[in-house]
Amino acid sequence: MSIIYKYTNEPKIAYFSMEIGLRDEIPTFSGGLGILAGDTVKSATDLDLPFVAVTLICRKGYFKQRISKDGVQTEEEVQWDPAVLMKQTGVHVSVTIEGREVVLQSWVYIVESPRGGTIPVIYMDANLPENSPEDRILTDKLYGGDDTYRIKQEVILGIGGVRMLRKLGLHIKKYHMNEGHAAFLTLELLHEYKKDIESVWDESRIWDMKSVKNLCVFTTHTPVAAGHDKFSYELYSKVFGDYFPIATLKELAGEKDLNMTLLGFNLSKFVNGVAKKHGEVSQNMFPGYEIKSITNGVHVFTWTCESMKKVFDKYLPGWANEPETFVRAGVIPDDELWAAHSAAKKKLIDYVNTTTSSKMKADVLTIGFARRATAYKRADLLFSELDKLEKIGAGKIQIIYAGKAHPKDEVGKELIRTIVGYKKKLKGKIEIAFLEGYNMEIALDLVSGSDIWLNTPLRPLEASGTSGMKAAVNGVMNFSVLDGWWIEGHIEGFTGWSIGPAPTEVEPNKNMNKIDADDLYDKLENVVIPAYYNDRANWIRMMQNAIGKNANYFNTHRMMRMYVTEAYIR
Ligand SMILES: *Cc1c(COP(=O)(O)O)cnc(C)c1O
Repeated sequence: MSIIYKYTNEPKIAYFSMEIGLRDEIPTFSGGLGILAGDTVKSATDLDLPFVAVTLICRKGYFKQRISKDGVQTEEEVQWDPAVLMKQTGVHVSVTIEGREVVLQSWVYIVESPRGGTIPVIYMDANLPENSPEDRILTDKLYGGDDTYRIKQEVILGIGGVRMLRKLGLHIKKYHMNEGHAAFLTLELLHEYKKDIESVWDESRIWDMKSVKNLCVFTTHTPVAAGHDKFSYELYSKVFGDYFPIATLKELAGEKDLNMTLLGFNLSKFVNGVAKKHGEVSQNMFPGYEIKSITNGVHVFTWTCESMKKVFDKYLPGWANEPETFVRAGVIPDDELWAAHSAAKKKLIDYVNTTTSSKMKADVLTIGFARRATAYKRADLLFSELDKLEKIGAGKIQIIYAGKAHPKDEVGKELIRTIVGYKKKLKGKIEIAFLEGYNMEIALDLVSGSDIWLNTPLRPLEASGTSGMKAAVNGVMNFSVLDGWWIEGHIEGFTGWSIGPAPTEVEPNKNMNKIDADDLYDKLENVVIPAYYNDRANWIRMMQNAIGKNANYFNTHRMMRMYVTEAYIR
């Protein structure tokens, strides 16, 4: 009997995501989208929701990052064995790709909550001897390969995933697509709900769009048109054959290209962006659709460092399962909060000093910046005017970076080289470190051990951002451009600080790099540095506010309750 059997008694919400980041030992994630998916599943488990998740096994992982002395990133394949933490379900299904039958197996990892809830995560796997060598590697790489590789992966995730759930005996009451990668599942559902040909007078009416729509929820994460997954219909026909009529598909997914977001939108009753601003931006990008917003969060237990957990346990019992408890963060005595933060900071600085050539100090204001190295995140904004930065920060600040660039993102790789170059230029004045191999463990050390968390994205490209939420859980204030979640979480001088103009005052044609950098320098010099060195009591008050106001709300427990009431039970 399949180990999934005990999950077949109650209808489930099926959550489909190309990447899910649950723990470093399962390296099938690349960044924010995957970590969000992992946190989503963890909160669903704590809340004991009827839930199952579907993703790909990615046997070669994303990649292991190495950074040379000169800041050159190289990528190594990750070696990991699914059998260490997962079991095979023993169930096989197949999909047709380019006319070949591709057989798929699946692995299951059970997420467990200390409260007793458990949720299965299903990992689709094409590596079976009955498949051809080129098909066997289809579930090896996350975001690797070309469009052809990608569309085949999406067939496996969307169509293979639905067939797998069915064959495992799981009864699904909602399908939640986390981004467009899984949107082919709608086509499989259209086949499932197809009307009897005799009952309709026109053959094109056999597709029961309404029933499928009632079953589907779609979350978009991409604030630019070019970022949405698209395929040519030529490629579609080559890969899919006659699986689904192209004329009907064009009505659902766009006339010119097969747009996975449009496909998801047209067949979902509930569509949302991941922060209020992102909901508005998406609404403007797709007029005619009703796009709601549910702001992202983080799983607070995962993203709280050990020393802070002890303080929370003592003063805010029950915090991990009811993050609203953070509303009373003000009861934590100043000295104990500071001691917990100092312990996290020491751990981080020891790590930096032993793994890099830096000589960081525990009593210097430490700025953390870690996220995917990609152009819009503007990791180099802080260095816009080197002389100015040196004048403001010499001896007073130290900066720790981390982040992977996608193997094909030359601009992202150049950013890493640039920052490592600045490290050399500022040597002896401002200590800078770039940690290699950004992962969940390093992320937690960084978000808890820094004093402030810097984020400088180009508006409106940060759909939500979540690392700043992780910082807030640990009492680390955000110093960030007003974009994504920070528009909702920011109270100036209270929960943290903004950089640059309010979202309503951004003029798209102006040189935002210069405007934002000027404000960044001005505030760093006149507000943030003096606050850290001259007014520790107020600094600790702000740490309490970050926990009490930001972590209280920007968590996945709150987010999941919103998905339940606004999307899943409708
Ligand atoms: C949280 C996290 C991210 C996402 O951070 P953003 O600020 O949303 O870009 C990426 N990678 C890892 C390892 C993380 O823990």
